[in-house]
Amino acid sequence: MYYVDGRWVEAAEAYIHPEDRGYQFGDGIYEVFRIYQGKIYQWEAHYTRLARSAKELQIAFPWTSSELQSIAEQLLDKNSITETDDAILYMQVTRGTAPRQHEFPEGLRPILSAFARKKERPRAEMQNGIAAALIPDIRWLRCDIKSLNLLGAAMAKQQAKQQGAFEAILHRDGTVTEGSSSNLFVVKDNVLYTHPANHLILHGITRQIVIALAGTLSLEVREETFDAEFLKQADELFFTGTTVEVMPVVSLDGKPVGSGQVGEVVRKLQEAFEGTIG
Ligand code: PMP
Repeated sequence: MYYVDGRWVEAAEAYIHPEDRGYQFGDGIYEVFRIYQGKIYQWEAHYTRLARSAKELQIAFPWTSSELQSIAEQLLDKNSITETDDAILYMQVTRGTAPRQHEFPEGLRPILSAFARKKERPRAEMQNGIAAALIPDIRWLRCDIKSLNLLGAAMAKQQAKQQGAFEAILHRDGTVTEGSSSNLFVVKDNVLYTHPANHLILHGITRQIVIALAGTLSLEVREETFDAEFLKQADELFFTGTTVEVMPVVSLDGKPVGSGQVGEVVRKLQEAFEGTIG
């Protein structure tokens, strides 16, 4: 079952208007939630970010946290996602439907749609580590907004895939920003480095959790920019994200990262992250 603009519908009836601004301009926002054992992980953080993305784009956002949460819970129910299941839940809000014009039409009614499906955790990848490829970051300059404009990210991920990698590591003129759908950390001499949470990256919820966990493990974290040269000297590299969790990177552009094995620091963080799950 899908939720589309106030209605519960089967996939075959899940229609959206062709002049929904989400289609024509990518004029909308979204969140992906992780469901561990039937429970939504970090609901409030995702809700807060969704509401913030709406505010930054002047999209009307009439839903309270509990109203949206109730829709999310019903969605799990209607899709038979129970306490034995891991899953993902997707929610998006577009500005609404109107005859095409670039500027924002007045008084639009925002359109909420959502779906949920069972999805296993990426256990093998988290255990063995994955390959990454360094790709230019051609996205817009408001990457802090979780908007539907994902073509830059999709192109980067596709390019990474064509190079045999699982994820892209993006850089702007040599300055490393984040993954195409994840944040990135470098470990060098037991210190963690990650791009500052400004307009050039998404302020990841998992990133924030990992920064807090690093504190409890007495690991120093520097939210600083770094370049591709520094990246290549890393002892360890890892991505963070709602679906990738804490994901070790063991090769970059076909060359081993550090020892070429999953490192100690990332293992500790994975273990600590596990402790935050239900
Ligand atoms: N950066 C980008 C570009 C993303 O799409 C995501 C996935 N939401 C992240 C970072 C990770 O954010 P989070 O930990 O909140 O999922």
